[in-house]
Amino acid sequence: MNVNKLMAELERRHPGESEYLQAVREVLMTVEETYNQHPEFEANRIAERIVEPDRSFTFKVVWVDDRGEVQVNTGYRVQFNNAIGPYKGGLRFHPSVNPSILKFLGFEQIFKNALTTLPMGGAKGGSDFNPKGKSDREVMRFCQAFMTELWRHIGPETDVPAGDIGVGGREIGYLYGMYRKLARENTGVLTGKGMTYGGSLIRPEATGFGAVYFLRQMLEKAGMDIKGQTIAISGFGNVAWGAATKATELGAKVVTISGPDGYVYDPAGLDKEKIAYMLELRASNNDVVAPYADKFPGAQFFPGRKPWEVKVDIAMPCATQNELDGEDAKKLLANGVKIVAEVSNMGCRPEAIDAFIAAKIPYGPGKAVNAGGVATSGLEMTQNAQKLNWTAEEVDAKLHQIMSSIHHACLEYGTEKDGYINYMKGANIAGFMKVAKSMVEQGI
Ligand code: GLU
Repeated sequence: MNVNKLMAELERRHPGESEYLQAVREVLMTVEETYNQHPEFEANRIAERIVEPDRSFTFKVVWVDDRGEVQVNTGYRVQFNNAIGPYKGGLRFHPSVNPSILKFLGFEQIFKNALTTLPMGGAKGGSDFNPKGKSDREVMRFCQAFMTELWRHIGPETDVPAGDIGVGGREIGYLYGMYRKLARENTGVLTGKGMTYGGSLIRPEATGFGAVYFLRQMLEKAGMDIKGQTIAISGFGNVAWGAATKATELGAKVVTISGPDGYVYDPAGLDKEKIAYMLELRASNNDVVAPYADKFPGAQFFPGRKPWEVKVDIAMPCATQNELDGEDAKKLLANGVKIVAEVSNMGCRPEAIDAFIAAKIPYGPGKAVNAGGVATSGLEMTQNAQKLNWTAEEVDAKLHQIMSSIHHACLEYGTEKDGYINYMKGANIAGFMKVAKSMVEQGI
């Protein structure tokens, strides 16, 4: 494979799709050497095939708002690769959603899902619908309209969507309610469902919990304990909440959260009450964290800024792609950050990753760190197929096992000659090898 040639060809075919091209470049650069040791990959043109989605659907979503006005949005589903199992990946509702973002997310999902050890292919979907400020009824009507198109492309054995930014338990409920009417089957086509209709215990917490289990292994490997470490978290949604909950429970001190309006620095650290308040903030649908600083004395709000300027031991980006850039990395490094565990998908820009790696700071990429979410979705699918529910302890134990096996895979493929663990390289190679091998074995 010649990465530059392949990238030039992709740029020609997908001009301006910067997020997608960024994600592809990172994976190809890190797997190039291993790939070239496998002539069967090149003979089967695996690189050229793996970077293009199998198919993408774009559809119109028409719905009526509370004033009785007709609204039009665009819906998407990108089915990227199903070599190792049915298409699987979330739905994102956010005004920034476009084909480039969904293709980057779908591409990442292929390798993330491969890392989980479960049989799941990669997909992603969503809409440019903005849930901010919408009423419950508006969200319901939008979800129903979205599903009247999406349902024909998905199924419990073909493509299983879930949540992502802007799609939580409420949205999954409305989407599922419409799906089962249209498809006339009720066997769990979505994951992240409510507990009363086929959901799995621990799924709401799984991304954040899994991320902290992974972080703990990174710390252990670096000879550190999670107890007493200070952590900067960005975001305040489901993922940030899960990570803050587990990190706090294990004795770490989470000192920041953030939203589109800025970040809150709380030197005393989050506790149960403050973490519960995060949920209230999220439920208010206003997308702001500023009220936190009014409610809890000692906390300070920094409008329009990112939490990476605070002195902490660990950084955990939990918000969205490219939220931590080269400048942010410099600030974190100058303040002595010891570990970066990226929980958002592609949360760090390439310059930031380069800076962490050059400084020999362990950097865990999103596709490894946040894989506990989709892994627990996989466990929800298993429970649905078996028509039973596991206890929280059973699910949590399996989540632990899966995060350990992902960490192990990163060590196997990412440990460098000097002992530094390049988690990005390890995760990319481990995920890629599994999918590439299965594509070779299944022919053209
Ligand atoms: N959106 C999540 C992710 O980025 C979860 C996907 C799923 O559960 O299918 O992995």
